[in-house]
Amino acid sequence: MHSSFQYKGSEFYMEGVSLTEIAESVGTPFYVYSYEFLRDSFTAYKKAFSEMDTLICYSVKANSNIAVLKAFSDLGAGYDIVSGGELLRVKRAGGDLGKVVFSGVGKTREEMKAAIEAGILFFNVESEEELHVLDDVGKEMGRKAPVALRVNPDINAKTHPYISTGFKKSKFGIEIGRAFEVYKEANKMEGIDVIAIDAHIGSQIFDLTPFVDSVKKLITLADDLVKEGINIQYIDIGGGLGISYKLDDKPPHPSMYADIIMKEFSGKPYKLVLEPGRSLMGNSGMLITKVLYLKEGTEKKFVIVDAAMNDLLRPAFYESYHEILPVVKGSQSKEVVDVVGPICESGDFLAQDRELPKVASGDLLAVLSTGAYGFVMSSNYNTRQRVPEVLVKGDQFSVIRKRETYDELLNLEELPDFL
Ligand SMILES: *Cc1c(COP(=O)(O)O)cnc(C)c1O
Repeated sequence: MHSSFQYKGSEFYMEGVSLTEIAESVGTPFYVYSYEFLRDSFTAYKKAFSEMDTLICYSVKANSNIAVLKAFSDLGAGYDIVSGGELLRVKRAGGDLGKVVFSGVGKTREEMKAAIEAGILFFNVESEEELHVLDDVGKEMGRKAPVALRVNPDINAKTHPYISTGFKKSKFGIEIGRAFEVYKEANKMEGIDVIAIDAHIGSQIFDLTPFVDSVKKLITLADDLVKEGINIQYIDIGGGLGISYKLDDKPPHPSMYADIIMKEFSGKPYKLVLEPGRSLMGNSGMLITKVLYLKEGTEKKFVIVDAAMNDLLRPAFYESYHEILPVVKGSQSKEVVDVVGPICESGDFLAQDRELPKVASGDLLAVLSTGAYGFVMSSNYNTRQRVPEVLVKGDQFSVIRKRETYDELLNLEELPDFL
């Protein structure tokens, strides 16, 4: 574990703050993120790639809290966004709009217009039809939309199928075999300014080979395009570096990743764009939850907690594993339990068949590695309020998103006249 997280005596601390103290102040469940951790993760990337002209565009969808975005922009990050809503968040955070890249297979005309007006760095265009619409929007505005084509390099990233995005059957990007033709077409368009190539092959990737294979293909394509007179300035290699979810997982360090990528780029004129999300935020965050009840089935023991699949979808959605630690170290004796939430779904678990120290009702548990794809995927299923988010820095902490109120949750609904 990073030095930002440690037990002092029997109490689990994030940096200089006891998690029990935060729980007493904001109630449970809640998400909490470590500023030091996110800063160190970003700095590790920055250092690793310091020999190349590199723009690190934090992938906003991993954790889009405005305070998190501000923290990254203060460190010099750009952003990878996937919606007009995320563009608004970047604006709210005071981020540099000139360092924004815009990905996603379903951008609307309104979103395109807003991004052109904002002066983003470039669009990652994912289909020929999208390219034509963007050209049209550009012309309408009397502007040229800066563009990368997101190519699909047909590479198996060897990760969970839901987060593998760079093989032929995936909905993402333009097949690399067709890309050259589409680029030539794009280069003639009045509303388009071709400046980059992009790919993103998936997420939670441990094996670096697929990255190398993808980058080789991108550079070859870029070289061919430059020969054709097309002005490729940036190569955006996406995000996807994996993190440890189990304490003994050994994901590649950004410096190993940087070494193999920079080797491919050596002597090439292109600037590099990266879009990391999970590897910047994933391990910075925890979900803190309280034990409500213990229940003994005939086959299994259940620890029923106040956080549920609506708060943390990953176990139900990806069958993902998250370490769970007690916030106050208590019993030495252990038992095998399922940690489950109050929701009426059998998929509502945070851990299954997990050996944990014995807990009692009222105890607090920390669900680790939930800083990315945690809060952002939460919902109101079962009419549950979305939980607060807290940021810790040194011995300070601050609520960066309040717990939703029932009014906020119910007020959008209206009774029709005909009832
Ligand atoms: C989700 C996503 C990322 C970030 O992926 P991580 O695995 O979180 O690093 C980057 N680029 C695109 C286009 C994405 O969709």
